[in-house]
Amino acid sequence: MNLLEVLILINSGLSSNDKSSLLIYHSCDQSVPAGAIPYGTGFPKLPWYCPLCKKSVDNYAELSFDITVETLDLEVGAIVQENKD
Ligand SMILES: [Zn+2]
Repeated sequence: MNLLEVLILINSGLSSNDKSSLLIYHSCDQSVPAGAIPYGTGFPKLPWYCPLCKKSVDNYAELSFDITVETLDLEVGAIVQENKD
């Protein structure tokens, strides 16, 4: 498996993996995700309510995002293991 194949695998996993989530961070606390929505459904609608500081956010500049892919690492690891034999 070359790097390109790995990238294709990751891309297809991201689009079809139900357990992928888009984590939402608010500027009030960048170390704790304030929310999460399923990946692929776009960005949260504004105004967005932050449960951490209990404020209504009406500007994407106050938000940052991260993607979790909980099962993808396991799948890639299993395939790499197979190729070793
Ligand atoms: Zn907040």
